[in-house]
Amino acid sequence: MALPKSYYCLQSQPEPTYNQNQTVHELSITESILSIVLEKATTAQASRVTRVSLTVGKLSGVVGDSVEFYFELLSRDTVAAGAVLTIDQPQARLRCRDCSCEFMPADIDWTCPNCQNRGVDIMSGREFFVDSIEVE
Ligand SMILES: [Zn+2]
Repeated sequence: MALPKSYYCLQSQPEPTYNQNQTVHELSITESILSIVLEKATTAQASRVTRVSLTVGKLSGVVGDSVEFYFELLSRDTVAAGAVLTIDQPQARLRCRDCSCEFMPADIDWTCPNCQNRGVDIMSGREFFVDSIEVE
């Protein structure tokens, strides 16, 4: 049984970071994900959570592997124990401020492929939310 999607967007999105330091705390992020999952599972009177799908944009600053690790750890002894965690990581999409060309950047090179301008706006890639929860 899949719960309706509108149910569980995270209310506050974490601030994205762009450096390599682990300034985003996956542990607390995972705690909030799990509390959403458990709350919705309780509301749905579920005996077990079978699958949790997350969308984690490449620019969100959230490390999927760490979330996976903490989720397994934190969900022990809850109805979400053993749930399959799937993480969708949409590519970053940028738009050049000069020529409005939209492109997917390769790694950290954010130069416009059309006019070589470096001034870009982020169109997508910062998403971070619980996409769906399946329960039994
Ligand atoms: Zn351009």
